[in-house]
This record gives sequence, C-alpha cells and structure tokens, in this order.
Amino acid sequence: MEGQTIQNLWQVAQGSGRWESGVLPSSENLAKARASLPTTLSDAGNSLESIQRHILDDIVPAFNGGSISPNYYGFVTGGTTPAALFADHVVSTYDQNVQVHLANHSIVTDVEYNALGLLLDLFNLPRTTWHNGTFTTGATGSNIIGLACGREFVLQKAAERAGSQITSVGEHGLFEVLHALGLSGVQVLSTLPHSSLVKAAGVLGIGRANVRNVCQADDPLRFDLEQLEKELSRVDKVSIVAISCGEVNTGRFATSGIEQLGQIRRLCDKYGAWLHADGAFGIFSRVLDDSPEFSTIKKGSEGIELLDSITGDGHKLLNVPYDCGFFFCRHPDLAINVFQNANAAYLSAGATDGPSIPSPLNIGIENSRRFRALPVYASLLCYGKDGYRDMLQRQIRLARAINEWIYDHPAYTALPEATSKTELVDQTFMSVLFRANDESLNRDLANKINETSRMFVSGTSWAGAPACRIAISNWRVDVERDVKLVTDVLAKVAL
Ligand SMILES: *Cc1c(COP(=O)(O)O)cnc(C)c1O
Repeated sequence: MEGQTIQNLWQVAQGSGRWESGVLPSSENLAKARASLPTTLSDAGNSLESIQRHILDDIVPAFNGGSISPNYYGFVTGGTTPAALFADHVVSTYDQNVQVHLANHSIVTDVEYNALGLLLDLFNLPRTTWHNGTFTTGATGSNIIGLACGREFVLQKAAERAGSQITSVGEHGLFEVLHALGLSGVQVLSTLPHSSLVKAAGVLGIGRANVRNVCQADDPLRFDLEQLEKELSRVDKVSIVAISCGEVNTGRFATSGIEQLGQIRRLCDKYGAWLHADGAFGIFSRVLDDSPEFSTIKKGSEGIELLDSITGDGHKLLNVPYDCGFFFCRHPDLAINVFQNANAAYLSAGATDGPSIPSPLNIGIENSRRFRALPVYASLLCYGKDGYRDMLQRQIRLARAINEWIYDHPAYTALPEATSKTELVDQTFMSVLFRANDESLNRDLANKINETSRMFVSGTSWAGAPACRIAISNWRVDVERDVKLVTDVLAKVAL
C-alpha cells in the first residue's frame, strides 16, 4: 500500500500486491503515521492535493491488511468484493440518507427493502413471514434490536396474562412495566453468547448479570434443556432465549437441527419467551447445499425459521465494507413500539402506491442512516447464491485442511479437543481454534505468529488457557495457496 495515487489504491483493493508484503504495517510506517498527525487544527486549510498526499503517503501505509489480505484471520473480518466496493463509492458520492420512506423523493428505501428480501432468499428464509427488519451498523446493533424486541414482546405477554394496561417498555420504561407486573427483571438465557449480546443486555436495562449460560455440564456450547425449562418457568422473571448460531471462538453451533430447535421453540411458547438467534456469521451456513461434506454445518442453522428474530453480519462473510449488519424479525409491528419517532410529524412517510415499506428510522436505532444496503444489493446481484456458496465452501475447506494439519502435528492441539480427525473435520466451519502443547510457546503463540506478518490470528482463551483462532472470512480464499502459507508459518513458529 505504498501507493501514491488513488489509481494505485484501487489496484490494491482489486487484489494487487499490498497484502503480499505483510498483513501488519511496519513499526516505521506506524511511527511515521503517528508523527504526521496534526496537534491542532490550523486556521487556514490545506489544498485537497496535499491532504490526499498526506492520507495516501502517511496514513494508509500504517493500515493493517485486515480486509485486503486473504491471510488476515483476526476477528471475523471479511473483505470487500469488487461489486460492493463499487457500490460503496456510489453511496459516498451521492450521500443519500435512508431514513423516511418517501416514495416520490428517492428510490433508496425501496432498494434497501429489496436488498433485505434478497438476503432472505440467500438464506432460504420465506419472505412471507420474514420480510421485516432492517440494516444495521453490525451484529451488535442487530443484537440490541433483537433483545429490545424480545423485551417488548415478553413483557407484553406477561401483561396480557396479568390483565395489565402497562405493557410497553418503549412507552412507559422498563421500571414501570416491571413494577406494574410485580416482576423483578428480564433475563437472557444462552450458551457462550458473543460479548455484544451481553453488551446489548447492558444497554437495554436488562443487565449484563442477567445473561445466563444454561449449558450442559460437559459441553459449554450446548443447551441443557432441563435447566432451560427451569429458568423459563421462574415466576419472578421473563425470559429471552438467545441461540449462539455460530459461537465466535469455535465457529460451532448451539443446536444441531430442526428437532432440537423445535423443542426449544415449544418451551418458549409455553412460557411466553422470545427466541432470538445471533447468527452473525453462522446464518451463512444456510447457503450450503445438501452434500454430505457440509451436512453437520448446515444442521447448525437448520430450523432458525422457527425463531422470532435473527442477527446477521454484512461486513463479515457477506464481504461488504464496514459497517453493515442486518436484522430479521417475524413480528412486523414490534420494533416500532421501541424505535418510533412519535413526536415528529415531519418524519412521517406520505401515502404511496408502491409496496408498504416501513420508514427505517422508526424500526431501528439510528435516524439518519448511511445507504449501506447498496453494497449488499450489488454484491448479491453480482455473485448470486452460487457465488456465495462457492466462497463459503472455499473458506470451510481451508479451515478443515488447516485443522487436519494441526490434528496431526505433535506441537499443536485442535480445539475443542476431538476424539477423531473425522469428527474434528466434520465439525469445522470457518474457524480454527488451537493451542500449542508447550506452555511457554502457547502463552506467546499469537504474537509469534503475527510477528511474521505473513498471517494474522486472534489470541483468545479456551477452557481457561490461552488459544489462537484463525477465522476465515475473506472472499479471496484460495485453499491450496493459503493452506501452504498457514501451515508453513505454524511449522516454523513451532520449531
Ligand atoms: C462479530 C460478532 C458479533 C458482533 O458483530 P459486530 O459486527 O462487530 O457488531 C456478534 N455476534 C457474533 C457471533 C459475532 O461473530
């Protein structure tokens, strides 16, 4: 990325070069960039050309290869497809605000609504029941909306049972609703939820401490249904059940098919609970075909059409730029109870002849909103279901090839520990979790790998000890090339 011009930048983004020279910036480039930052805003401005030079020469070389490099495996980063990149430039250039559906003023709300429908098609979720929801800034935003809708729903149900008129948290506030119902709170029941779900509980007045793991004693990834029912039957609390549809360390799923989800669904119905899935990346397992090669992975998201709400991420496996997430909901009239702009007549949509499209500002967190649906729209139309299936298959095959190598290597252990290589491969989605067997190497493993700058992994912890995670989410994955690179790095680090 040492390029001097916008043209070079484009070439980098299109795949030439930068990531081959390292996934992390050099310390020199970081120091140079830091030293170039102004200490104060001057009265006089600068020429556009000088600012362009400053950004391209000083700042850009200190970026990491996050989305540009197919060998950046930190977080779940994803990349940007050429179609999405093109559309994102259009978004910035025309700077449309997607907030109120004004059918005679702009097409943007129609495009966003259409893109949501295309996503449902990608995930084989029926539009008839699921074409509600919105685009968000990411899975965190989607989890906040999901728990907010859940909170509204479970308290509405409790109010119906109690014959109370005070039903809406959006209207009356959490305290008054709980008080009127004689309840002590809302709880979220899950298995190894993503930190953002816990954050959402904090934001929404549910409380981080009220997110409870109800997992099996010998498997933190799976529900203990007996314990789940016990929690759901409490008379002092109402509950939201959150399915980890893709756990962030292991990539594994909390459920293994429609039968199990059906059981959880029935329990939720019995006790008036809301059923949400955090499928930030896990929902993508629904694009896989029915081949035996991927059947275990596909089972992980089987049956999520039975749920009430689903979180998904755009800037991860969909490979559109930051920031982009999406939220699907089976209940069309719920989000507006929480997110409406009730006191601003000028924000209401006029009557239209077209499809009835809700104004995004009344069903999500933000009012003014970026047209982040356009890169999604462009990339989906460009790749189609087949293109996304191919992308995901390459990602899974790479993860599995790396895991097989790790399983056989005396210096490493693949996690969670498997009883056979077949079982390990079968369970591997697009994440590889592992540790070094030597304790002192393991403590420093992520650093040692990342120091090579040939690939980047996240340091995490598993079962109380440090571990590394390789999260594969870039559209540029090339199984043969990348497995060679990764195993070469891991072999050298273990010497
Ligand atoms: C990444 C992730 C999130 C948070 O998503 P953001 O896009 O960073 O807001 C939530 N849940 C899961 C499972 C994730 O992987």
